[in-house]
Amino acid sequence: MQITEKQLEQVNSRIKALVSAGSFYGKKLAAAGITEVKTPEDFLKLPFSEKKDLRDAYPLGLMTAPEEEIVRIHSSSGTTGTPVIIPYTRKDVDDWATMFARCYETAGITNKDRIQITPGYGLWTAGIGFQAGAEKLGAMVIPMGPGNTDKQLEMMIAMESTVICATSSYALLLAEEIQKRGIRDKIKLKKGVIGSERWSKKMRERIAAELGIELYDIYGLTEIYGPGIGINCPGGEGMHYWDDYLYLEIIDPATGEPVPDGEEGEIVITTLVKEGAPLIRYRTHDLSRIIPGECSCGRSYPRIGTIMGRTDDMMKIKGVNVFPSQIEEILGSFPEISSEYQIRISHLDGKDTMRIYVETTGDIDFDDLTKRIAERVKSRIGFTPIVKAVEVGVLPRSMKKTARVIDERYDEN
Ligand code: ZN
Repeated sequence: MQITEKQLEQVNSRIKALVSAGSFYGKKLAAAGITEVKTPEDFLKLPFSEKKDLRDAYPLGLMTAPEEEIVRIHSSSGTTGTPVIIPYTRKDVDDWATMFARCYETAGITNKDRIQITPGYGLWTAGIGFQAGAEKLGAMVIPMGPGNTDKQLEMMIAMESTVICATSSYALLLAEEIQKRGIRDKIKLKKGVIGSERWSKKMRERIAAELGIELYDIYGLTEIYGPGIGINCPGGEGMHYWDDYLYLEIIDPATGEPVPDGEEGEIVITTLVKEGAPLIRYRTHDLSRIIPGECSCGRSYPRIGTIMGRTDDMMKIKGVNVFPSQIEEILGSFPEISSEYQIRISHLDGKDTMRIYVETTGDIDFDDLTKRIAERVKSRIGFTPIVKAVEVGVLPRSMKKTARVIDERYDEN
């Protein structure tokens, strides 16, 4: 999706702010001699920014507005190495709440709802983002924070919460507890807003069924405000994102070149109006695609597909970029195979080959099944894998998802 004239103007205003503040990226842009971009082609020549840069700017190197205008900082969890610190101005905090309120509205949540918030409060952007958006909307917030399931359920019943905000794993835990305690008829939940983790379709279906609620996926990352920059809509496909605040590109993670709308790649985000720490062409390493065309819900905000994973999961087979989740999705469309599978990639006779092992029952014609799976992979992704079917129970059980993909190309032996 090409950048619009208006968005280009906004980018230029951010470049100007960065350069004149002499902040981390301002210095980089100035050193590269960049003062403005005139055309969409110019924009594509702007250098990418990376999480590593943000770490190098620790602690406050990203600060682009005058200190007296900074009202808050947030930090990414920083489980590995130096954390990233993002400064926010009052306007940034307000813009974020506006985007988040729009997410709630898109999910059909109103000021009559009671929103129970279970993500954590603190340096990270979770709890407070959910709260600020809900207050902007005018809903009643029940700011629980994480953990203490007894108290969560007690409040959920007493306050008659209608919306639960949680990670997918905590939503599942709550659903199981509600089931176990036989208190579902006392629960008034109608909707769940789920953030921060990638979750399987199966998990989503289980939470929705056990709680009897509609689920919404919220997208976001600390470097770009936090959660709330996109959400799925009822009935439509993928997630809407707010292109009046952000410009999204999808690039080939290997080459950095933009891919056509509809094709999978890495999400790259430019903040259009952020003051505290504007980011230009920030590589998220999240994988998705632009969904072309209009949404059936009638909203004109553009859409991206569900996040398919991280660029680190990407494999290149016969010159085509492939993500395990794409294969998983295709396999999921064959009801005659079990949920277990294994993908092996090897380098044979100078060519990359993907073998997919699936499980099925003996009354299925193995040859016909494997042919149909190979054809579907070919038509959806663009290369033909070798598919092998085995009896149910043959593939190893209880392996982690990542262990289902075995790349043998780089084995020394
Ligand atoms: Zn929609």
